[in-house]
Amino acid sequence: MVQPDVAVRNLRPAVSSDLLIDGELRPGSGGTFEIVNPATEEVIGLAADGTTDDMDAAIAAARTAFDTTSWSRDHAFRARCLRQLRDALQGHIEELREITIAEVGAPAFLTSGPQLEGPINDLGYCADLAENFAWETDLGRAEPMGIPNQRVIKREAVGVVGAITPWNFPHQINFAKIGPALAAGCTIVLKPAPDTPWCAALVGTVIATETDIPAGVINIVTSSDHEVGAQLSTDPRVDIVSFTGSTATGKAVMTAAAASLKKVFLELGGKSAFIVLDDADLKAACSMAGFSVVTHAGQGCAITTRLLVPRERHDDAIRYTREAMAGLEAGDPTEPGTICGPVISAVQRDRVESYIALAKDEGGTVEIGGGRPEKQPKGFFVEPTLISGLDNSARAAQEEIFGPVLVIIPHDGDEDAIRIANDSPYGLSGAVWGTDPDRIAHVVDGVRTGTMSVNGGIWYSADVPFGGYKQSGIGREMGALGFEEYLETKAVATPA
Ligand code: NAD
Repeated sequence: MVQPDVAVRNLRPAVSSDLLIDGELRPGSGGTFEIVNPATEEVIGLAADGTTDDMDAAIAAARTAFDTTSWSRDHAFRARCLRQLRDALQGHIEELREITIAEVGAPAFLTSGPQLEGPINDLGYCADLAENFAWETDLGRAEPMGIPNQRVIKREAVGVVGAITPWNFPHQINFAKIGPALAAGCTIVLKPAPDTPWCAALVGTVIATETDIPAGVINIVTSSDHEVGAQLSTDPRVDIVSFTGSTATGKAVMTAAAASLKKVFLELGGKSAFIVLDDADLKAACSMAGFSVVTHAGQGCAITTRLLVPRERHDDAIRYTREAMAGLEAGDPTEPGTICGPVISAVQRDRVESYIALAKDEGGTVEIGGGRPEKQPKGFFVEPTLISGLDNSARAAQEEIFGPVLVIIPHDGDEDAIRIANDSPYGLSGAVWGTDPDRIAHVVDGVRTGTMSVNGGIWYSADVPFGGYKQSGIGREMGALGFEEYLETKAVATPA
């Protein structure tokens, strides 16, 4: 192992970041591409532009490391490597924080949680899983067809993981795949989003220079070309594709993976409902709904973007939500008090603005926001925006916008609220606010989503499985269930 020298090592590359393939840091065969700070529109650096040849080499390295080394069977060694990686990354935390804010446009306050520190700390949870998991279960004797047999169930690593990730919470999503996959004994090729290559590439530098993780066990291929990621879905040497991103791309991944019938794990989009019951503290609920949707400029798959309020309190709800959003202006993500930073790119800002225009065309009223903040002449900022006057069938209420845009919709009681919440192709997350525990429990049971928050409850944690119903995905990430996604099951019988 190369000894860490945190005092002198600077993760910010002098020229370009590198790819990590077969234990080596190397330039991309396609040269480099620029990384733009979404808050300033300035180029902050260059990333290695991986090609299909680079991806081919990365998949080969992962396959060889899985097939020819003891990595998948040495549980104690893997646990040690995971803790070593966590500790090495923690040694670089301030540098990573600065780079993450600059590359993602993530508000600084989120980096002490899911944007950085949370997922790095959670590598320890993954190490514990590897150490404590029941890799073998003795089923005892049975006499099928009158013949006594001793049966054992073994759990084994799936093999080579193709991990494809988006830009909104790059560390959270990269580590929610890397941690459990390594703990399970898999080897990995990670293809991060073109908008946030450094968050992954700099982790690759730490892996290569400060850990004992063997060559080929983790490979990181940054690229400006989406097709390089698509290779992971089709290549027969990849055993499982673990994808997080939009539902449209998830469908393309699943279709492409069908040819080699590989396992597919999908974390996709959402259009989650925030339900306010008529016995709730309306002001507190609407303030929370406004806060949630502007956090990280609404670029969170599980953010609640439809606010369902009692019809008779609709006008008050608009007023309270507008007041809350007015105090949460989009601003500089490096400021500790900023909740709403920029969206990731000009393309994404165009998309959000086109949805606001569409909402108006559909008959919606912009209650607050709807434009670009005057105080931010540079950067891809969108004002926190509240839209009323639409029903749930409007496209702005059905489709994922991925910006700080909240649609407020009246409901006519608990059953109606459940009906509207479920009237969506998605089923990722949701929230309910109220007083009566029985009514709350009824709503929680009725809404078909992978997570529910009650009166502001926070489900995000290393041991909580996260994922979606319906078109929000297949499978669960994090927690013991997320770890088991990377395992196969083998039944072994011996005559007794
Ligand atoms: P995206 O689907 O455009 O891209 C995601 C990743 O897929 C990127 O790395 C991209 O390069 C790659 N890609 C693009 N085309 C591909 C193809 N044909 N085959 C293989 N890979 C391909 O998503 P995005 O715009 O980067 O991220 C935003 C989306 O991610 C939103 O829809 C959001 O809801 C979703 N998301 C979901 C979760 C979740 O856990 N459910 C978490 C975060 C983000």
